Amino acid sequence: MQEKTQPFYIENGVLHGVRQIPSPNFNQRPENTDIQMVVIHNISLPPSQFGQGYIEQFFQNQLDWTLHPYFQTIKGMEVSAHLLILRTGEVIQLVNFNDRAWHAGRSNYLGLPECNDYSIGIELEGCDDLPFESVQYQALVDVVNCLQQTYPKIQHHIAGHSDIAPERKTDPGPYFNWSHFRQLLGEYNISK
Ligand SMILES: [Zn+2]
Repeated sequence: MQEKTQPFYIENGVLHGVRQIPSPNFNQRPENTDIQMVVIHNISLPPSQFGQGYIEQFFQNQLDWTLHPYFQTIKGMEVSAHLLILRTGEVIQLVNFNDRAWHAGRSNYLGLPECNDYSIGIELEGCDDLPFESVQYQALVDVVNCLQQTYPKIQHHIAGHSDIAPERKTDPGPYFNWSHFRQLLGEYNISK
């Protein structure tokens, strides 16, 4: 098997090798809280439409709510994720990993509440009713492998938003192929 090369590295909570678009929507993690899981989401604005830059504007609190009726339903929401992976496979960092991004909401993982406190949130540009792009899986695997190296407590603690908030959330949705993702991620470990 061909060995994978890691395109990214992390230093002081910054993912190097990606575009930085800082979001103001973050605060401090609680004291003595280690990063120990990854939460995978999907988002598209408007729903099921891609590539228009509205997600980035939304996470920066710069979205013009008058542009689409759907935007009225999310008007004034202040949310974020650490990373956004576009349909092109481009990775964007919005929040430093050392800070607490606002992506999970009320949530629980293995009995531990408030996943925002101890997780890294990754948004895939996508929706619940369309497949994701293969370049998105590749970028996600590169990023998650890099995170696992830097924050070893993550190990295999990788969950969907719907896993940690099942009554409220459906993302990353039925089209997110967990077995494909885990297989690609495993190829890193085989080559070690
Ligand atoms: Zn979500």
